[in-house]
Amino acid sequence: MNFDQPRREVVATCLQLADKGYLAGTAGNVACRIDTEHFAVTPTATDYYVMRPDDICVLRLDNLVCVAGDRRPSIEHRLHAHLLRARRDCRASIHTHQPIASAYTLLGRALDIQCPAYQLPLGQEAALVSYAPSGTSRLASKLREAIRPEINAYLLCNHGVVCCGPTLSETVARLETLELACAAFFRDAIVGRASLGSDPSLSEVLKQLLNCEDLECVQ
Ligand SMILES: [Zn+2]
Repeated sequence: MNFDQPRREVVATCLQLADKGYLAGTAGNVACRIDTEHFAVTPTATDYYVMRPDDICVLRLDNLVCVAGDRRPSIEHRLHAHLLRARRDCRASIHTHQPIASAYTLLGRALDIQCPAYQLPLGQEAALVSYAPSGTSRLASKLREAIRPEINAYLLCNHGVVCCGPTLSETVARLETLELACAAFFRDAIVGRASLGSDPSLSEVLKQLLNCEDLECVQ
């Protein structure tokens, strides 16, 4: 069986995410359904800028046996397998340490998505997955329990995020939307706190400094 095309797509997606600063060194990982039985996933601890299609692991979705690729699969391959099994409508599952959304996970709560333009790709909330150490079966199990058909973004407490989607490019777009939604939350929180102060003009000044009016939505 030829796995060349999906492997090339995964490498291209990793380069795109690395250029955006979403992968933070060798952190983060990308998975892509190949057919009903197989999925491709990035190898563990590999520099994305030197990674080649042959480095991408191909695993069976049912028992996680590696059928192609000499390297060891990402430590989060179980997490991606749970997502791809539960969400038959999704071809891609991506985990990142993107800066703003990862900072949001320190709050330990789900994010309500109030803006309709963000709800369309993400759903009405980004669900919280409670903390478990990276790469463990416990973390994969906690994600599995949180998976819902209508939610495409998951916040891994004190860690990073996972998004799923029908294609790799749409999933990258969802990660970008999640980053915008979290940025809007923080901007709103800063402005809201300022408005509690004694000088009501301060919040107006902050709004201008933060360009809140330029945002598509401020939550
Ligand atoms: Zn991670």
